[in-house]
Amino acid sequence: MIRYIKESEISELTQALIKQPTVNPPGDTNQCAQIITDYFHKNGIEADILQCKNGIANVVAKYKGTQSGKTLLLNGHMDVVVPGEDWTVDPFGGEIRDGQIYGRGTCDMKSGIAAMMAAMVGFKRSKKKFNGEIILMAVGDEETGSQYGTRYLLEQKIGLQADFAIVTEPTDLKLELGNRGLRWIDLSITGKACHAGRPHVGINAIEHGARLIDAIRTFKPQIRNDKFEPPVPSLSVTQISGGSQANVIPNKCRITLDRRMLPGETTETVMSEISHIIKSAALSSVTIDIEMRPGFWDPYLISESEPIVQVLKNSCKKITGKNPLIGTKPACTDGSHLFHMGKIPTLLFGPGLPALSHQVDEHVPLQNIYLATDILIDAFEVLLR
Ligand SMILES: [Zn+2]
Repeated sequence: MIRYIKESEISELTQALIKQPTVNPPGDTNQCAQIITDYFHKNGIEADILQCKNGIANVVAKYKGTQSGKTLLLNGHMDVVVPGEDWTVDPFGGEIRDGQIYGRGTCDMKSGIAAMMAAMVGFKRSKKKFNGEIILMAVGDEETGSQYGTRYLLEQKIGLQADFAIVTEPTDLKLELGNRGLRWIDLSITGKACHAGRPHVGINAIEHGARLIDAIRTFKPQIRNDKFEPPVPSLSVTQISGGSQANVIPNKCRITLDRRMLPGETTETVMSEISHIIKSAALSSVTIDIEMRPGFWDPYLISESEPIVQVLKNSCKKITGKNPLIGTKPACTDGSHLFHMGKIPTLLFGPGLPALSHQVDEHVPLQNIYLATDILIDAFEVLLR
């Protein structure tokens, strides 16, 4: 049972967000940001659009209590990944069928944005007295690294003072206490081109790349954390390119690595480990340049004893009648940036189903969105006493 806000209002809000094709790239979130600010303005909540790059709009909405107190930050991203082919429904239609709402971003994560918006408005309509402040961030650029989204807002000192945060990424109403970290690293191998008829006078960059991949496959994780699934870090070769023509010995080969991290690992530990692997391959006749891509996420994990976890746990129990599952997220989220740049204990909790994120015919049960809204409203009352 939703308090203070009708189910139809929440489902219409979710549909309105899904109908905006905020596909990233290019990640244009202008129209979607406008819908969000309009909804807040209509409900008497202060909301502004902030941009640091053309096309990538971020919304910051604020709702203050009667006296000063704790600050709760809510965060969600408006951008979605490309829908791809083989959909049986319009990916931007917001169609509702058998209690499920369909569309790209229903799980990841427009249902999460709708739930936190509805919770903020429902909480206001309840007219309950509270202290402190709720700050809501609906951001762009999350699927491509958050440089112009969450990271930009934190650099502008927005939300940095928060005492706790909730990112409404898809968790299927589970409480997730952190996420794995990620670095993308490009290795560029330079050899010497020559006519393939006389290969001995050149240095084949692709063949050296193959030897390098063999060395990369000897990677042994040094740490383990059973709170994560899988419980160990990983190093995968995810892209390779090289060569210009069938009859030319290639002078270039580029290998991209996807390195998933666990708490305790840093840029320094990851980069020194890669240098070590490269050294072990002993490829002295080529040069190898190592470059880390600008988008990155650090691993993080908060304690289950944090107030944000305890309060949400109680609210889940109260609303759904059972204890929520507790875990962590294998994928990366803006929780990394809130935790590391803002030092904010950040919980991942949302209505979307993680298994359907980025999939064809992505959909979410409307009931999950209503429950998430209800749980958030209940948690606001306790967190902002
Ligand atoms: Zn997401």
